Amino acid sequence: MAEKIWLASPHMSDEGYEMAYIKEAFDTNWVAPLGPNVTGFENELAAKVGAKAASATTTGTAAIHLALKSVGVKEGDIVLCQSLTFSATANPIIYEKATPVFIDSDYATWNMDPAALEKALVKYGDRVKAVLVVHLYGLSADIDKIVELCDKYNVTLIEDAAESLGTYYKGKHTGTFGEFGVFSFNGNKIITTSGGGMLVSDNEEKIAKTRFWATQARDRARHYQHSEIGFNYRMSNIVAGIGRGQLKVLDQRVEKKKHIFEFYKRELGQLEGVDFMPINDWNEPNYWLSVMTLSGAVRPLQIMEELEAENIESRPVWKPMHMQPFFAEYDYIGGDVSEKLFENGVCLPSDTKMTDENLERICRIIKGLW
Ligand SMILES: *Cc1c(COP(=O)(O)O)cnc(C)c1O
Repeated sequence: MAEKIWLASPHMSDEGYEMAYIKEAFDTNWVAPLGPNVTGFENELAAKVGAKAASATTTGTAAIHLALKSVGVKEGDIVLCQSLTFSATANPIIYEKATPVFIDSDYATWNMDPAALEKALVKYGDRVKAVLVVHLYGLSADIDKIVELCDKYNVTLIEDAAESLGTYYKGKHTGTFGEFGVFSFNGNKIITTSGGGMLVSDNEEKIAKTRFWATQARDRARHYQHSEIGFNYRMSNIVAGIGRGQLKVLDQRVEKKKHIFEFYKRELGQLEGVDFMPINDWNEPNYWLSVMTLSGAVRPLQIMEELEAENIESRPVWKPMHMQPFFAEYDYIGGDVSEKLFENGVCLPSDTKMTDENLERICRIIKGLW
């Protein structure tokens, strides 16, 4: 069997940056709980994206949960959430017993359609407490339009930038336009800590409060004292050490991801019915996953099966939330854009450890179907 090619797998630095931070943590016995790597990672990530403050969490999902809690989202409130995303965007809305309403994407960005968003804002009025926009696959939403609508209707914006670390919109980093931005360091993301997340904001006070909730909401007292409900959501000092090392190679990873995307586009772009995810001139994506769409006779399943037979991983475009059995009861505003992207899209192998020979082989297999 040929060597396995992954969609996106962990890729530690050649220089061993991550190990150096871990070793330091061991040598000083800062294995747990918090420690200098956590603060270091928070400061370095905040500086990288241009946010005033950051709070490191166990997962990106936890960071979304803390953001919703900070906004004060509660039972009866509505959160307008992009439908075309991974379930982790929407799940924390349910954790807080609020009600999600799902919003379609547009073809120009694949992310939240501003026209559908405005319809939902009008329909639900004062019940809407937050908008949760996603920068899917490392593409950015047309965030100026989303911000404008949130201002107009006086609603808080949260950006799920879990897939878009290294992505810029008009020169400004994604995740820094709303009240909160969320990043993930799950194993498949552009950089990974094995598992982890980060909440960023320009509001240092609000970030400090999320740190309090994330460490079991312990009041200042000699004994354990709690006047609020807490969570165990803080990142450990070992995990943060991996993150500090990975952050040093983020730019290299983006460069390689871009190379992969351009390789596919060059090799496959001429095939009948093939198109690729939209790269807008105001967007500098991180190209986390290379995604193509098919409108001709060859279907996504054929490509996935053909690659699978050669030990190569690929995946459909994320299934929209409004089509998920669990979320089916909630309202959905928009047309069929996210449904069509799900139906016609394929996420191609985008692992940064791939060689050009690997990419040639993948393209040869795909071209064989035409
Ligand atoms: C990965 C991901 C998350 C969740 O991150 P975890 O760290 O795995 O909890 C949230 N939203 C999107 C869009 C993601 O891709």
